[in-house]
Amino acid sequence: MKARSSFSRLGDKTNGYWHQNLDDCLFYGEIMKGVKIAKILFEEYKNRKGIFKNLLPPEYSLPKNVKIGSKEHLLFITLHVAIDYRKDAEKLWKSAKDLFENQNTRWIYNPEKVNSNYNKLIDCFEANFKIANFVDIAIWYRICRTIAEEFESDPTNILKINNYDAIKIIQFLQNRKNKKKFPFLSGPKISSLWIRMLNEVAKIKMKNLKEVSIPVDVHIARATYRLGLINGKFIKLNNETRRKVISLWRNICSNIDIYPLQLDEPLWLLSRNGCSNAKTNKKCPLFKECPVKEFCKYSG
Ligand code: SF4
Repeated sequence: MKARSSFSRLGDKTNGYWHQNLDDCLFYGEIMKGVKIAKILFEEYKNRKGIFKNLLPPEYSLPKNVKIGSKEHLLFITLHVAIDYRKDAEKLWKSAKDLFENQNTRWIYNPEKVNSNYNKLIDCFEANFKIANFVDIAIWYRICRTIAEEFESDPTNILKINNYDAIKIIQFLQNRKNKKKFPFLSGPKISSLWIRMLNEVAKIKMKNLKEVSIPVDVHIARATYRLGLINGKFIKLNNETRRKVISLWRNICSNIDIYPLQLDEPLWLLSRNGCSNAKTNKKCPLFKECPVKEFCKYSG
């Protein structure tokens, strides 16, 4: 793979550091290490090799009779990604598939019906969607209302009016006028995640994907720390950690033909199936086959 800038930015630094903030100083060797890790993970995941042979993130579960990239698929992804926070992602997307395939609950994916049936939506969530809470109902309802009233019940229209430009779409969601109309979907992590899912899962082509930040959740942060790319131990996810992780992958990717969103799935799977277990059980189930174990702080 051809290097995008031949490390010209690294060459500009005279003090041996890469990052501009002293807090996050990265040595040249650490960036080189990040580049190697990014290339290995990207290639292994793209070719579904090794540990990635049978692993896919849970949002790939497609309900029966739904066409990839259709309006129904986009509604399915949009509404579920908006409530994809502080939950077990596998349980969430499994429930999502069941709800969509059930004729009695299918109507909750119809923005017009949801818009005129708030009380029925509460009853339906309480009876059938145990993993969701009251905040999720409010998020679901508000997004359906916005899509029904302003986008002819089709999320594709949000993409169209922004010319399928990933950055414009995120800015559109986050502008002061629209932020409240798209609760949680407009947040920095979820909006990046939504763009990644629309592109990778629903196969929607978009411009400017390279500029979108990696959506940092606990798995992305854990894998990044575990691979020794940020000093110290990962303790909890807060804004400072997110900022460091986003900035790190942006810097690493600026030197290769891989962009941060393309590392989201392999890093997430690496942590979900490997690094996270190493934390709780002291054993990493992927240790033997992990393609980046040579960089890992975990000793096996
Ligand atoms: S060896 Fe295990 S803990 Fe280390 S990076 Fe790989 S999956 Fe994570």
